Amino acid sequence: MIVTTRQLDLQHTWTIARNSSDCKHNVFVQIERDGLVGWGEAAPNIRYRENAEKTTAVLDQARIVFETGDWLAYATMRRYWEPITENQTCAGAALDMALLDWVGKKLDVPLYRLFGLDGTQTPVTSFSIGIDAPDVVRRKVAEAAVFPILKIKVGLDNDAEILRAVRDVTDVPLRVDANEGWKDKHEALERIQWLETLNVELVEQPMPAAMLDGTAWLRERVEMPIIADEAVKRAADIPELATAYDGINIKLMKAGGIQEALHMIHIARALDMKVMLGCMIASSIAITAAAHLSPSVDYADLDGNLLIANDPFNGVTVDHGRLILPDRPGLGVTERTGLNARR
Ligand code: MG
Repeated sequence: MIVTTRQLDLQHTWTIARNSSDCKHNVFVQIERDGLVGWGEAAPNIRYRENAEKTTAVLDQARIVFETGDWLAYATMRRYWEPITENQTCAGAALDMALLDWVGKKLDVPLYRLFGLDGTQTPVTSFSIGIDAPDVVRRKVAEAAVFPILKIKVGLDNDAEILRAVRDVTDVPLRVDANEGWKDKHEALERIQWLETLNVELVEQPMPAAMLDGTAWLRERVEMPIIADEAVKRAADIPELATAYDGINIKLMKAGGIQEALHMIHIARALDMKVMLGCMIASSIAITAAAHLSPSVDYADLDGNLLIANDPFNGVTVDHGRLILPDRPGLGVTERTGLNARR
């Protein structure tokens, strides 16, 4: 197993309610057997106490799992690394992706086929606009004109200013993500009621994950679907959220991989909840991995690779917002020649 960290540079400084950054350090995994290589990626997130060093250390511990064993028995393999990656779920996601990429190549099928999904039934992805000054927001929205849906980050003290700047430039449907930024339920209610006048189709994680009762209170008072993001990592988290949220945002990095994400989709459906497939800032490896599940979800927010300037890989592409899955076996991702070539 080869483990490397690469710096991914953002096209614009990325600001959300929690923090701000110009680059990300993601950890890449390569496994090889029978002349076939499987690729995986971990996007460590500070919200979950992850970073590239800790992730790399965990991946080193998990190496032994891949030294022997039947790699086609991927569901069994997963049981061996999960206890190791429990506190750095992004590391588990990288291993799961790499293994499934390899399995797809070994069986000579794209991943969506392995899961019985129709690769032509992909949703449109939203494109995310980070928090910024109004003139920058207007410019970013203008640059994103090809996307039929935008996701707007809010949750600081300039929400109204940002939404007005967006609406100066476009009238496309919006999704709003407060990233736990509204700390008071009355404040959240007021803001969502205002968003309801602005053609906003859903709001993501309006209040802190820990404020479950407050969110349930809010949900009784608004029409707009409320989607859990920071409140949900894995399938076991979902049942109690059904009391306060209309849907969940599944991310491979939180879930610990594609297999757990599939499990989450099934649990959410059983609870009659909406499913969004989201992402961290990541290269085309992790974004393509998630995109292979996208035919089975209601909302896709898979733009993490589009926000970076030096994606080292090619994979899923976007045509007027619609996700186009590669047809090659496994993830179908290829490494770009001329690393760090800016697009
Ligand atoms: Mg979110």
